[in-house]
Amino acid sequence: MPDPHSEHGAELRKIIHVDMDAFFAAVEQRDHPELRGQPVIVGGDPAGRGVVATCSYEARRFGIHSAMTAARARSLCPQAVFVRPRMDAYREASRQVMGILRCYTPLVEPLSLDEAFLDVTAATADGVLAVRIAREIRARIERETGLTASAGVSYNKLLAKLASEWRKPNGLFVVPPEHGLAFLAPLPVGKLHGVGPATVKKLSAMGIHTVLDLRNASREVLIAQFGKAGLWFYEVARGIDSRPVQTSRQRKSVGYERTFPQNLEDPKVMLSTLRQMAGQVSARLQALGLAGRTVSIKARFPDFETVTRAHTDAQAIWRTEAIIACLPGLLAKAIPASLPMHASVRLLGVTVSGLVNVEAVPPEAGQMNLLEEPVDLR
Ligand SMILES: [Mg+2]
Repeated sequence: MPDPHSEHGAELRKIIHVDMDAFFAAVEQRDHPELRGQPVIVGGDPAGRGVVATCSYEARRFGIHSAMTAARARSLCPQAVFVRPRMDAYREASRQVMGILRCYTPLVEPLSLDEAFLDVTAATADGVLAVRIAREIRARIERETGLTASAGVSYNKLLAKLASEWRKPNGLFVVPPEHGLAFLAPLPVGKLHGVGPATVKKLSAMGIHTVLDLRNASREVLIAQFGKAGLWFYEVARGIDSRPVQTSRQRKSVGYERTFPQNLEDPKVMLSTLRQMAGQVSARLQALGLAGRTVSIKARFPDFETVTRAHTDAQAIWRTEAIIACLPGLLAKAIPASLPMHASVRLLGVTVSGLVNVEAVPPEAGQMNLLEEPVDLR
């Protein structure tokens, strides 16, 4: 049995994860009725190097998904309608959705423009069921924005997020504490937060494919193989996740990092990878209404030595271009040409810290970077 009480003596929490369905594409279909029922792909130019940002469920039936090149998407579904992103419209819809969520608790943590965690523990103290709140939120979002959202309800972030995905699109799913372990057991390990492609590969070589397999691995083995991350794997396999829902006020930094299935050796690829991450960090900063003065990058070398290099500016920034402008200098400091043994990396990350609240974040053209530059990590 999962015991959420055992960790840090915390009380049983009620967490909701709300995730808009095919968000960018859904906004396009809402605003352009002729696109309803059509395979719609929001993203870059299929004739150029553009990538798919979001596609409608009609397009997903053809095997199209986010981050695929737009050219590949077109070859899978030649009749698809390609639409360039209208970030202003998505931001406006996002503001409306987040506003609805904040009616139920101040503890709202947006993960991007279209998804957020809510801690409704206090709101349920008087006996209101978390699932009732989730139901009401979904109905209000649909009524007030004309868009649908899926929601997951559980006792921590890990399970709430997996639950919202379970009945997508336009679904609601609850994982009560007594069902947590059984719900997790058959899932592939790659579904777990923090388990990326490189880890999936390594676990698979150890004969670990499902969360149940992972649960059967000893803590010692996992720590020996993965260090601190191994302890996290040990806990999430047991449905334990004590990460709090963090509002922007409590947040110290916004970052994004990735471990690669194969080490990156080409500095150009490293830089374009960092640039793509900058787009993700910028999108998250915007969703949270934050900007920061310090940009740092992290690099981990094949021997696991890890370095971070930071640049602090007088002005708080959040735009993709402003973050990108810091990257070449930081990369050169992290990976000096004079150290050939550090010429390849297994992990890269970008973080913005020294955060301040931004009242009204103006529209950003730089968001396009994310959509125009696919990164080949092979
Ligand atoms: Mg979504």
